[in-house]
Amino acid sequence: MRYRWASCLLLAVAAGCGSKNTSSSVDLDVAGMDKSIAPGDDFNAYANGGWLKATAIPADKSSYGLDPMLIDLTRKRTLSLIEEASKATQPASEDVRKVGDFYAGFMDEAAIEAKGIAPLKPQLDAIASIADRAALARAIGGQLRADVDALNNTNFETPHLFGVWVTQGLEDPAHTYPYLLQGGLGMPDRDYYLSTSPHMAELRKQYQAHMEAMFKLAGFSDPPARAARVFALETAMAKVHATRVESEDVHMPQSWNRTDLPKKAPGPDWPALLEAAGLNDVPVIIVWHPKAVTGLAALAGKEPLDAWKDWLALHAVEEAASYLPKAFVEERFNFYGKALSGIPELRPRWQRGIDLTNFALGDAVGRMYADRYFPPETKAKAQAMATDLVKAFGKRIDALTWMSPETKVKAKLKLETLKVGVGYPDHWRDYSGLEIVKGDALGNAQRAELFEYRYQLGKIHKPIDRGEWWMTPQTVNAVNLPLQNALNFPAAIVQPPYFDVNADAAHNYGSMGAIIGHEISHSFDDQGSQFDAEGRMANWWTKADFEHFKAAGEALAAQFDAYRPFPDLAVNGQQTLSENIADVAGLNDAYDAYRLSLGGKPDAVKEGFTGDQRFFICFAQSWRAKLRDAELRRRIATDGHAPEQYRADTVRNLDQWYAAFSVEPSQKLFLPPNKRVRVW
Ligand SMILES: [Zn+2]
Repeated sequence: MRYRWASCLLLAVAAGCGSKNTSSSVDLDVAGMDKSIAPGDDFNAYANGGWLKATAIPADKSSYGLDPMLIDLTRKRTLSLIEEASKATQPASEDVRKVGDFYAGFMDEAAIEAKGIAPLKPQLDAIASIADRAALARAIGGQLRADVDALNNTNFETPHLFGVWVTQGLEDPAHTYPYLLQGGLGMPDRDYYLSTSPHMAELRKQYQAHMEAMFKLAGFSDPPARAARVFALETAMAKVHATRVESEDVHMPQSWNRTDLPKKAPGPDWPALLEAAGLNDVPVIIVWHPKAVTGLAALAGKEPLDAWKDWLALHAVEEAASYLPKAFVEERFNFYGKALSGIPELRPRWQRGIDLTNFALGDAVGRMYADRYFPPETKAKAQAMATDLVKAFGKRIDALTWMSPETKVKAKLKLETLKVGVGYPDHWRDYSGLEIVKGDALGNAQRAELFEYRYQLGKIHKPIDRGEWWMTPQTVNAVNLPLQNALNFPAAIVQPPYFDVNADAAHNYGSMGAIIGHEISHSFDDQGSQFDAEGRMANWWTKADFEHFKAAGEALAAQFDAYRPFPDLAVNGQQTLSENIADVAGLNDAYDAYRLSLGGKPDAVKEGFTGDQRFFICFAQSWRAKLRDAELRRRIATDGHAPEQYRADTVRNLDQWYAAFSVEPSQKLFLPPNKRVRVW
């Protein structure tokens, strides 16, 4: 489960991007270190201090580091593929034609300026004509899309009143269900509406000004009154929303019969809402946020119709903004890019175009990308490395002293049936039902989202596909799929500097190995450990084993609670616990696999560093990143991952790190052996 990165709501505004290319050196980056710092005092600064000093965050980015660099490189490669497609007089396939036309439509700024708000007008007129609660329910239902993902990509943000996620049942791995999640906010999380911190209070003011500006641009009367109504409505939504930490509780969801919705969550005209959402033929809906869905439903029944109409209109404009004239794009960037993430400059249009094309036609672009940039040799070597990591993890389970034999048997079964996907899926998505029209930028985007939603709903009536992928091949990321007991390592992360067929073992295991180990360990983190080999939510632990596991998790949460990047803000150890467990366990796993790969021989000393030293430095260098303050605050509020600098410092939980760098008790990162967290 889980991104190394989060972008979600800010797609095409704030995510990644820029101009620099990734470095061509594959092993250790000695120049990027700061050897004047003792590794035991600040390992991140020791491994990355030179780079941190020499690097400025590009003006169009909220952060910079290895992932943004690789995202840039991948985007450039994708651009060349897409440009070829858009210029081809005879495209290689209908999918290639669609990719080319989608991108070209977005890039035709002159046509978009000339049309103004006209492409959105029919939708705004329909919202304006809503005259009763049944029509409101139809409008709310008609907006729902497959835009959230509670366990794989852990994306809990949707501007629609509810988010829909379609996958196998938590307790019924043989069948596919729709999941209903909370939604409706224009800002990233309830905290932004309710927190008393001065930073959040200031953002609330800026958000209201932004909403006024959007209403004005779209030609609405009385923008201040409308913005105030939307703000009041969203604040009421925020009050019933679950927190980010609560959202991670896999025991919160409830299975509701569709026909019970009006009783369990009275408010809207549910039959009308569900029919418009295409959910009127499913017997059971898994409600991920039961309390919040009930609360949001109540608001749909009682808040003034006019407030809802303003909310629908504003969200329609916001969602379409990327495909509207420049004034809309810039106003949206002012709030979502500048204010929320601290990014000074909007990134170039072509980069936004690539991201939006990836979003709309991900597999079609991914197929082109994998064909060109992911040779079978890389796929085979990375797959072999993943197999080593799985083997090493199995040995770790065998060697655990705290785990009972019966729990070990089940853990091993789960590990042995884990499906590791490298590069791209076994089957590509069929886009033949998606209509892409030359020059219809907004229409193409809206049809693509609806197409994706219908595809997801279609899964409900089909057999389960355990080989389903949840990331595109051109994504610089990796993911664990707890319900499928599977992992995806997209082609775009299996490349230098994370992984190079020519790099030495210390490098490959320290960076890519730790990423693979991290994803494997998600199957056994505080969440993953609640799913069995078939992906069924089940308790397969003995009580004593689970108690030990829980205690180790609490110690790790406390370790991260103590990290304080701002005087008024600490990392949330509970919110980031799954990721932090996966980091520690993944690094241990990668270390073991690294030693196994040496076949018992010591590694050579290179550039003055032993193999173990290089392994740990490469790990920390794979986390190098620089973040703007606003972005760091946004991540701490909404992200399941701790900021990169603290993830690099997780080396302090491994005994081998102390030995490799002769870390002394007087040094800042030193933990006495009984405080080092050993989970797996
Ligand atoms: Zn993760």
